[in-house]
Amino acid sequence: MLSTMQDVPLLISRILTHGSTIHGSSQVTTWTGEGDPHRRSYAEIGARAAQLAHALRDDLGIRADDRVGTLMWNNAEHVEAYFAIPSMGAVLHTLNLRLPAEQLAWIVNHAADRVVIANGSLLPLLAPLLPHLRTVEHVVVCGPGDRSLLADASARVHEYEDLIAAKPVAYDWPELDERRAAAMCYTSGTTGDPKGVVYSHRSVYLHSMQVNMAQSMGLTDQDTSLVVVPQFHVNAWGLPHATFMTGVNLLMPDRFLQPAPLAEMIERERPTHAAAVPTIWQGLLAELTVRPRDVGALTQVTIGGSACPRSLMEAFDKLGMRVCHAWGMTETSPLGTIARPPAHVTDAEEEFGYRLTQGRFPAGVEARLTGPGGERLPWDGASAGELEVRGPWIAGAYYNGPDVQPLRPADKFSEDGWLKTGDVGTISPDGYLTLTDRAKDVIKSGGEWISSVDLENALMSHPDVAEAAVVAVPDDRWGERPLATVVLKEGASADFETLRAFLAEEGNIAKWQLPERWTVIAAVPKTSVGKFDKKKLRGLHKSGALE
Ligand code: ADP
Repeated sequence: MLSTMQDVPLLISRILTHGSTIHGSSQVTTWTGEGDPHRRSYAEIGARAAQLAHALRDDLGIRADDRVGTLMWNNAEHVEAYFAIPSMGAVLHTLNLRLPAEQLAWIVNHAADRVVIANGSLLPLLAPLLPHLRTVEHVVVCGPGDRSLLADASARVHEYEDLIAAKPVAYDWPELDERRAAAMCYTSGTTGDPKGVVYSHRSVYLHSMQVNMAQSMGLTDQDTSLVVVPQFHVNAWGLPHATFMTGVNLLMPDRFLQPAPLAEMIERERPTHAAAVPTIWQGLLAELTVRPRDVGALTQVTIGGSACPRSLMEAFDKLGMRVCHAWGMTETSPLGTIARPPAHVTDAEEEFGYRLTQGRFPAGVEARLTGPGGERLPWDGASAGELEVRGPWIAGAYYNGPDVQPLRPADKFSEDGWLKTGDVGTISPDGYLTLTDRAKDVIKSGGEWISSVDLENALMSHPDVAEAAVVAVPDDRWGERPLATVVLKEGASADFETLRAFLAEEGNIAKWQLPERWTVIAAVPKTSVGKFDKKKLRGLHKSGALE
């Protein structure tokens, strides 16, 4: 029997129309680095998104399904592109500006982007790349930057503001099939070639509703969200779409992602919420320790992308910035879990334990754990296996070209279609996920597993340690053993014996898991999205550079 309900497709244009009318006075504020930040209302963003769509269609010939790349920071124009491109039926392709040039060119060619919208400040990156971008016919430039860098470009170059200036401020958004491609994002390639994930209108819409639920980020139009997580990193964790549903004001840092301007933004613009990976917050914490600021407005901080160290959560709690830990990946849109403690827990220490987990699965995400032999493991909080998930905003395959079957590699998707996350962990009977490691980072020592994350978190809780990353290195006797690479705080002098003793006594690390190899480094290398780059560390060790 069929339902009697209307079949209205879940489209990004509907989110835009809602946000720019019902929440028309909400604002997108973009940091400019000097003087007043730039402010634009949701109503203006809606009008300009319509203008951009007209320009892309009428002047640049963009049609349904064409890919439009964005090489941009987090700012108002990037939000306009976020809505204009999918709403007109084309596909938004956010480009990770921190990737090595070769990889970036590979990705643009693979996606066959016809247009790239770029911030002027990123032209030094784009200009040398352009000759290698085989499909790019037009470059649209916005914001400050030296245009002469594109003087020899083979693609046609346009000014964003000139292009949209005379266009109508309304667009008759097409009534698309909600399953059509809306946006794409390539994984950052920490595990081999980048793989393209293509989000649908439906998946973005449903994911946005989940982000907005009280047990997720739960923001309202009384909030201002400082979106530090880049718009090229899994759609800024879905925030721009979610906020247009609820009228949350957006505070966009543009290229000012260093600790000092972030601290200034928080003091001056008083966001109530912020989102970023742990390394950003470690930097901010160090900054606030040296130069305290009034960060009183910021009461909720979403942390994900890698495990949130206990020490960071404690330090932020002390500053009144309550951390909410979340887990996800490019393939999961990204919201996969979020760590809100259950209501019945009132004891502070027990509550803290829940907050340190990766969190609970929302209704849209089904999960299961698979053991090494493919067996299902129980949710008993002890059995560790690979996490597999499925749901309406979880990828079921990777992009392989517009008219060909998508890729379903057997190491990424189970035969029955679940996503194999490559993350190893346990799930408690009440549905809280605790990740012990990524499958490829776990240290396999004499048939037992050592969690690199546990060692790192324990090390980073030592007062002398600024950052610590632990990787597996080959060992004749045990197969693999942990190598601890440590960044000491300025002026600190803890030696390895002290840190080893600290791990055993304070960190509750079993004796056989304690590293016997140590090295002090100036900084932990980071990936393009700011995570510890363990592949690079393993490479440095292999080449003898870490001895
Ligand atoms: P990449 O795979 O290139 O790092 P993603 O941003 O998609 O790009 O990374 C997803 C991975 O990040 C997850 O599979 C997981 O290993 C890790 N991750 C994300 N959030 C957390 C978290 N809260 N705790 C631990 N690991 C996390």
